[in-house]
Amino acid sequence: MDDIRQGIILKGVGGFYDVLDSVSGQVYNCRVRGIHRKEGGVTPLPGDNVTFKVIDEKDRTGFVDRIGERKNEFARPPVANIDQLAIVLAVRCPEPDLGLADKLLITCEAKDISPLILVNKIDLDEDGSAEYIGKIYRKAGYRVILISKVLDVGYDKLHQELKGFRTAFAGQSGVGKSTILNRILNNWAMETGEVSERIQRGRHTTRHVQLFELDVGGFVLDTPGFSAYSVCDVQHTELASYYPEFREVIGECRFTSCSHISEPGCRVRELVEKGKVDAERYKRYVQFYRELKEAYDNRYRR
Ligand code: GDP
Repeated sequence: MDDIRQGIILKGVGGFYDVLDSVSGQVYNCRVRGIHRKEGGVTPLPGDNVTFKVIDEKDRTGFVDRIGERKNEFARPPVANIDQLAIVLAVRCPEPDLGLADKLLITCEAKDISPLILVNKIDLDEDGSAEYIGKIYRKAGYRVILISKVLDVGYDKLHQELKGFRTAFAGQSGVGKSTILNRILNNWAMETGEVSERIQRGRHTTRHVQLFELDVGGFVLDTPGFSAYSVCDVQHTELASYYPEFREVIGECRFTSCSHISEPGCRVRELVEKGKVDAERYKRYVQFYRELKEAYDNRYRR
């Protein structure tokens, strides 16, 4: 009988894929079966759950047999099946871009990804920014961790929150994504990549998207490239459904097509007035709604 194994693609370089055997924990360097390519099959991505066959046990080579259905996928960086996004903000240096954080949260809601907010550099906090940011997002129902490499706080909590998830990192440049990732990789990454590192060494110099397995289970994605998100593929009419703090009253407004901006009898605005929804986050909602609607209204214009 064929020895078909289950695995996950850790990285792909020039048509070769490092596949982590889910049972043995060994990494196999795999090509994609010729027939799969001829049939117009999808190109494998890091993060893909695959079945594969071993060609040579000693050399740890094989070929990818089948690519499992994807929960989500991204072009930049090229990766599939992300289930947690760590959204990194700094209290300052650079000033926190809460609009970007909100957009990343919308993307998470739309792509079935669990967001985790990291408020970094709290050692630089002089005016209570960390608590202010934390409060906004906790109120919306999100998990928030305050973190600082200088004070050495938040990292243990982060370690626990990574458990079992496939986590990518996003945020403005300079907020500390690389610093946090390095700390994770140096302390909590398994040595699973070792075999394939040896195979690849010297052949390629550029950095590729790579998943690293964690000692607590789960993976982190080694790429700081998750910053260029947009909400372009979200419809303005659906925008409100991506705000968890609106959800309890959605569908209860006087008008079924309520945009939650100016219509009478709007239950979302009622929540804002009562202070149950953060007023600043609501203001940014209104702005995104207008941006998306304008793009929609102009969709046939050039
Ligand atoms: P990235 O662009 O998001 O990857 O950010 P980096 O990891 O390169 O960090 C940008 C700068 O912030 C570097 O100089 C880091 O040393 C610094 N940094 C990272 N974490 C902290 C922190 O907790 N506190 C302070 N004060 N600086 C930090």
